[in-house]
Amino acid sequence: MGTLTGKTAVVTGSTSGIGLAYARAMAKAGANIVLNGMGKPEDIEKERAAIEADFKVKAVHSPADMTKPAEIAAMVALGETTFGSVDVLVNNAGIQYVAPVEEFPIEKWDAIIAINLSSAFHGIRAAVPGMKKRGWGRIINTASAHSLVASPFKSAYVSAKHGIAGLTKTVALEVATHKITCNCISPGYVWTPLVEKQIPDTMKTRNMTKEQVINDVMLDAQPTKQFVTVEQVAALAVFLCSDDASQITGANLSMDGGWTAA
Ligand code: NAD
Repeated sequence: MGTLTGKTAVVTGSTSGIGLAYARAMAKAGANIVLNGMGKPEDIEKERAAIEADFKVKAVHSPADMTKPAEIAAMVALGETTFGSVDVLVNNAGIQYVAPVEEFPIEKWDAIIAINLSSAFHGIRAAVPGMKKRGWGRIINTASAHSLVASPFKSAYVSAKHGIAGLTKTVALEVATHKITCNCISPGYVWTPLVEKQIPDTMKTRNMTKEQVINDVMLDAQPTKQFVTVEQVAALAVFLCSDDASQITGANLSMDGGWTAA
């Protein structure tokens, strides 16, 4: 029996990167999975089928767009109707855009606030009634080191991630007596395909070696000079679903190689 056998986890933004690692780790722990996110249908189907084959659980994909509240509610409803419950909600979908505040495109601000912050509110709003009814739930939000500190040119992202930290604490207080916990995980730089793909270009434009790009550009702020792995983030999320973690709630758990200690 895994930590999550018989339970269902909805993971937003799980067609790639950290979200996919959460989904696979929760499936390994026994949960049925609602995948969500963008991508080529054949790639999504491959990941969905792999989860079922590798971990002997069921997985469905919800195409819900995290900018659309009604679609987010439908994603939670899909989990409830397909598997009977949504016990774990992982709010993870996120995008980034970098520009000086006075030039920041308004539509990029709106999209980042919608996807990185408001979608978590809509998901929580839809999932909490079922969790309360069953008397158990785990809400895990992917925040970021940027929920604690800022970097220039990331006004929308830093605002959304600080918002996620506040939403996490508020929800934790509201559901505390229902055996529902709500926490956020704040990674530093995580080795995802997105990050990996940036290395060759940066090597060219800055005339640097791969090691220089990693240490002097990407990991400048990260004292360990190592990336966090998606598996490490996912392992913390699975721990948060365990009984041993039942008294961890309202927490903002850093996994950033010491970034925010400095
Ligand atoms: P990623 O780009 O690999 O994955 C993002 C996921 O979100 C994808 O599945 C994508 O399809 C989905 N998505 C984007 N827009 C969507 C929308 N409108 N509706 C539904 N799904 C949508 O990125 P990642 O690095 O795995 O990031 C995941 C989360 O982790 C984000 O919230 C990000 O802010 C956070 N984070 C990442 C890092 C890092 O270094 N990679 C560090 C700290 C926090």
